[in-house]
Amino acid sequence: MKTRIKNAAAMLTMDNDARELSGVDVMIEDGVIIAVGPDISDADTVVDVTGCVVTPGLVNTHHHLYQTLTRAVPGGQDALLFGWLQTLYPIWSRFGPEEMFVSAQIGLAELALSGCTLTSDHLYLYPNGARLDDTIAAAHEVGLRFHPTRGAMSIGESDGGLPPDSLVEREAHILEDCIRVIDAHHDPRDGSMVRVGVAPCSPFSVSRDLMRDAAILARDKGVMLHTHLAENDEDIAYSLEKFGCRPGQYAEDLGWTGPDVWHAHCVKLDGQEIDLFSKSRTGVAHCPCSNCRLGSGIAPVRAMRDAGVRVGLGVDGSASNDSGNLVAEARQVLLLQRVVNGADAMSAREALFIATRGGAEVLGRSDCGQIAVGKRADIAIWDVSGVESAGSWDPAALLLAGPTRVKHLFVEGRQVVRDGHVTTIDLPRAVERQNTLARALMI
Ligand SMILES: [Zn+2]
Repeated sequence: MKTRIKNAAAMLTMDNDARELSGVDVMIEDGVIIAVGPDISDADTVVDVTGCVVTPGLVNTHHHLYQTLTRAVPGGQDALLFGWLQTLYPIWSRFGPEEMFVSAQIGLAELALSGCTLTSDHLYLYPNGARLDDTIAAAHEVGLRFHPTRGAMSIGESDGGLPPDSLVEREAHILEDCIRVIDAHHDPRDGSMVRVGVAPCSPFSVSRDLMRDAAILARDKGVMLHTHLAENDEDIAYSLEKFGCRPGQYAEDLGWTGPDVWHAHCVKLDGQEIDLFSKSRTGVAHCPCSNCRLGSGIAPVRAMRDAGVRVGLGVDGSASNDSGNLVAEARQVLLLQRVVNGADAMSAREALFIATRGGAEVLGRSDCGQIAVGKRADIAIWDVSGVESAGSWDPAALLLAGPTRVKHLFVEGRQVVRDGHVTTIDLPRAVERQNTLARALMI
């Protein structure tokens, strides 16, 4: 089965030569891009994209899908990170498998509509029988490429931690379950649709031993490591007080730097930590809207990229954003870097690179993130004939004047969004289920 995406007005390939093409086609077969160029011969299926801009699918490097069930919770709307968490923990402790599955479906569909083809997820609480498998089942249905991470919290309130005791797990059990989900679901091959990572929630919710053991386990299994790091001033103060060092030092001491590690936020990294991340090839998931929403600050993305740090984008959880629109994050990174560094600090094309290939590199996916022969067929198609782009002199500058939803989306060659609608699940029904569950949690 060959699919031909025909006559793109503009194509931002993000390939090694950063080529921008116009009037070209893409041919897909068995989930792989087999040709890019003008007038490719006919296929079994032809999708005419005249008047559209074609980009690689966007890559989301940080999310907590379950939080789509707790958007805009009144008590957390205006709180800083730690207060926000303490408002939400008791609500999350009432979740179970159905809440995890439905909230993931909604979050994944929302991402797909905003151009995302590959997403990671960070699930760090497992109340009432919930499992990582619940979210993997949702990703399988929606059809996105998925990197779930087995998160964890082990230090509850009674041990001086932030989460309530009811949401923490025994460390031995956490490690056992990491092994279980890796063995059951992790696929390291090219074109893989599921890769599992190991992801204790943050240095302030697990022990030093668990951080170290998690790194050893991940390397033994050949999977990646992920956590939250240096998110805001409270986070730095906690690290200095409890560990006697800054977060970068803590991470390095416990084996949490390297090309197989990526950290979320890193808003407060200093110059030395940026050097450490650059030398060790440690990745960063930058979450600009969440950082704004929680008042955490502006991550030094310009300095990171100039130092050679690999940076991708993340929407972060939908309780701290509260939107899961990835192309909106790409616009936000551009705006925030300009606030700090001036109008020439980041171009629309560079921000789109971070949102696509940058994210794929952070997640260790050299097979994704660009439109080139031999790469996986993860492709976003943007209709620039609408009101948002009307009058644009440069429609390929999507982030300055472009749509915030895709027209079509292909993942591994399969059409997941067609004419602005998710094809794989009954989305209106899922929304109804989600709202029913949310109403039950409010009682
Ligand atoms: Zn997060």
